[in-house]
Amino acid sequence: ANVEPRDFIRDMVQADLARGQIQGIVTRFPPEPNGYLHLGHAKSICLNFGLSAEFGGRCHLRFDDTNPVKEEQEYIDAIKRDVHWLGFDWGEHLYHASDNFQTLYDWAEHLIRAGLAYVDDTPPEEMRAMRGTLTEPGRASADRDRSVETNLSLFRDMRAGKFPNGACVLRAKIDLASGNMNLRDPVLYRILHAPHPRTGTQWCIYPTYDFAHGQSDAIEHVTHSLCTLEFADHRPLYDWFLDHLPVPSRPRQTEFARLNLGYTVLSKRYLTDLVRRGIVSGWDDPRMPTLAGLRRRGVPPEAIRDFVRRVGMSKANSVVDLAMFDHAIRDRLNQAAQRRMAVLRPLKLVIENFPEDQVEELEAVNHPGDPAAGTRTLRFGREIFVERDDFMENPPNKFFRLAVGREVRLRYAYLVTCRQVVKDADGNVVELRCTYDPASRGGNAPDGRKVKATLHWVSGRDARPAEVRLYGTLFNRPDPGADGDLDADLNPGSLEVLSGALLEPSLAEMPVGEAVQFERQGYFCQDPTSGSDALVFNRTIELRDTWAK
Ligand code: ATP
Ligand code: MG
Ligand code: MG
Repeated sequence: ANVEPRDFIRDMVQADLARGQIQGIVTRFPPEPNGYLHLGHAKSICLNFGLSAEFGGRCHLRFDDTNPVKEEQEYIDAIKRDVHWLGFDWGEHLYHASDNFQTLYDWAEHLIRAGLAYVDDTPPEEMRAMRGTLTEPGRASADRDRSVETNLSLFRDMRAGKFPNGACVLRAKIDLASGNMNLRDPVLYRILHAPHPRTGTQWCIYPTYDFAHGQSDAIEHVTHSLCTLEFADHRPLYDWFLDHLPVPSRPRQTEFARLNLGYTVLSKRYLTDLVRRGIVSGWDDPRMPTLAGLRRRGVPPEAIRDFVRRVGMSKANSVVDLAMFDHAIRDRLNQAAQRRMAVLRPLKLVIENFPEDQVEELEAVNHPGDPAAGTRTLRFGREIFVERDDFMENPPNKFFRLAVGREVRLRYAYLVTCRQVVKDADGNVVELRCTYDPASRGGNAPDGRKVKATLHWVSGRDARPAEVRLYGTLFNRPDPGADGDLDADLNPGSLEVLSGALLEPSLAEMPVGEAVQFERQGYFCQDPTSGSDALVFNRTIELRDTWAK
């Protein structure tokens, strides 16, 4: 049954609702539009949108767009597309931190007037050194005692564009001796003469993450602000702003463990780097852990949601086994994907006793577990292609597939026996000469004799040539970067391109991105670049775990 998950966050929400302090819950998913969403973000999306659905509240999509230097419209569009694709909808509740720039500015002046913020001209390196360490308190800059009037006038000059980038910052005046470094007079505003995708050149000073995040939560009346554990140390600062500003509501921050996955790097910064350096073909390269990459690889959104549910919420960081994600994908695809036949590395098989110009139509089942998926027609003829791996010249005892003298079943068709091998001048096997038993149509002999192997095949008459791309993990160790160098752990064999595959013709009709099982091979889907003149398929995943042993 589809049991609703229980975890510490859901327990907290339930308790908050039971106490009657809040009417309904409001959550938000707050991406910074500086890259594409990855599987880690999916965890946050499923949590925030999932909670609002389970408890009858709402979830906002909020772009945390406070750093125009790194943010682009392309990312904004991609994030919206990917949240929708994952199965969630913010409805009318689309927000931008930049919508609050004027309010945040006013609140900064409010702090200045209260003697709780000051403009500091200390050069950045010096300021860093003066913050001290965990064992050593920070030192005050000479600017810390500026008067309210001086601070107001300098801050207004900052806003008016009178200073170059980096000339000064606005800092909160909290506690330079605090054991929490985030409270040692954190920066609230910095000067950035850079146009913003939404506010254009209206602003040349921008609030920091800390000064924008909690206040945006409060402005939007978010009740539960859920973030990853790294932000636990920022919570006292989050609360400090709520305590000292005239905010319209009181959100509460709670932290949960980020998703880490074996053989995978979930860091936007590094993923951006892979794209920029051309190490992958783009954000949607099927080897990328981005939602766009997973979609192109054929991973259904339901599998990602199942996976996140299975991982659950915890208060301690850990690394999830990649096999768990693979299981979720296989479980979904086994139910959802129709079956087809495709030969990845073809070997020609000629049936000598099959009439030259005869074509037989055979009926094939689209999904063995789902009669509603129907059937399709296959054409069988004298020339067939089988998988090269399904033939051996000198087979060991336990090999039951094709070899000279062996009989096998061609799926949905006939029993065939290999009679002879044809080789080229270099000794490579180029063709198998076979005979078939005309009485075995459907795959069984009337005398009941057994054959152990059933092979997939395509018909030489109407098979469609295709390029098939086989993907491995992008990294070749479960803990990439553990030795300090992510690049060194990139898997050089993460992409194998098979240019001579042959497909059952109906595969050309598969919608782009819709997964299909190539019988005995795995799950595949048509790539967006695929066209009727050049078919391209991506392997989503193999049928069984063949590598993670
Ligand atoms: P990255 O570390 O990859 O740059 P980020 O946290 O800087 O990610 P944001 O766009 O700010 O990226 O993230 C939006 C939301 O997604 C945040 O609430 C963040 O906590 C959450 N998130 C990001 N990465 C993960 C992860 N690996 N697991 C769970 N949640 C994550
Ligand atoms: Mg972030
Ligand atoms: Mg980041």
